[in-house]
Amino acid sequence: MKYLSKFAQGLTPYVAGEQPQDKRYIKLNTNENPYPPSPKVNEAVVAFDFERLKKYPDPEARILTEALAELYGVERACVFVGNGSDEVLSMCFRAFFDEGDEVAVNDISYSFYPVFCDYYNLKPQIIKLDSDYTVPLAAYKDIKAKGIVIANPNAPTSIAITREEVLQIVKDNRDKVVLVDEAYAAFCKESVINDVSDNPNLVVTRTASKSNSLAGIRCGVAVASPEIISGLKAVRDGVNSYTVDTLAQVICAASCKDKAYTAEVDAKIVATRDKAIKKLRELGYTMPNSSSNFIFLEVGDGEKIYKALKERGILVRFFKSLPSKLRVTVGTEEETAAFITALEEIKRDSI
Ligand code: PMP
Repeated sequence: MKYLSKFAQGLTPYVAGEQPQDKRYIKLNTNENPYPPSPKVNEAVVAFDFERLKKYPDPEARILTEALAELYGVERACVFVGNGSDEVLSMCFRAFFDEGDEVAVNDISYSFYPVFCDYYNLKPQIIKLDSDYTVPLAAYKDIKAKGIVIANPNAPTSIAITREEVLQIVKDNRDKVVLVDEAYAAFCKESVINDVSDNPNLVVTRTASKSNSLAGIRCGVAVASPEIISGLKAVRDGVNSYTVDTLAQVICAASCKDKAYTAEVDAKIVATRDKAIKKLRELGYTMPNSSSNFIFLEVGDGEKIYKALKERGILVRFFKSLPSKLRVTVGTEEETAAFITALEEIKRDSI
């Protein structure tokens, strides 16, 4: 295509999970939250003066960054926000690495990381997970790359390493940036978000898409030293000064302030997840313990089961690179039970 740059022609984009519009599915494929956002969000939307929309948003996103600083117990200067954590991660890759740099990433992790490497012409230094899908901690003592990117809990494996283990990686690699993607931290007991002030090479990203039930507004966060945040803002301002719109700022701030609601929803999801894992194990299925809002399930022929579930109106995530696995988002109690019933029916039908 002569109108496209060589760069655009050569891109292999990230493929997001399906968002079908044709019919209603039990949607367990993109790790969204099955529960609605906080009622405080609804109140904030109803009270929102629509005339505010005629002006550009606050580029500093003060109301939102203040709410996040308060939530995480950090200075506002340590908080950066963007249009979803995918955008924040993309800007991190741009801010921390130059063309040709190596970036240490796990072989099985968030599939956007290699896409960013491709986009910014970086070389992934692949750290292979152990055969039980755990992170090989010893490998992080000998990293040659310019920086390390690690999802904790990891996706799609659902497995987390402890806070102490993350901090050991951070300490062992003081000369490198360590980017910890904590998209699923709300469903896990451990986080390093409060360790940023003691660790100048640590950057933590979070998202409003999971625990806050706000995937629809696109809001992501990075927490790091003020110097790193200034670098991220410079990268952002080279592309778009207003990545988080006014309504998204108001909505996300309202959600962050309602800690009790978020904690209640997180606890419900964790309880459903643990009950589902117990039930699935009783039925003979295998999966690691999950520290996330999804289950990394061994099913034999993943593609076949994915298709059979879809026919029954249940969407889960199948990755061609992991042919015997399915990644199944924890839904409501009813949705999760419906998934297990369908899985059992499919097994019975194929005997
Ligand atoms: N990190 C990980 C590990 C994820 O699974 C996701 C969700 N696809 C994201 C980041 C991005 O989340 P969002 O862009 O919705 O903030």
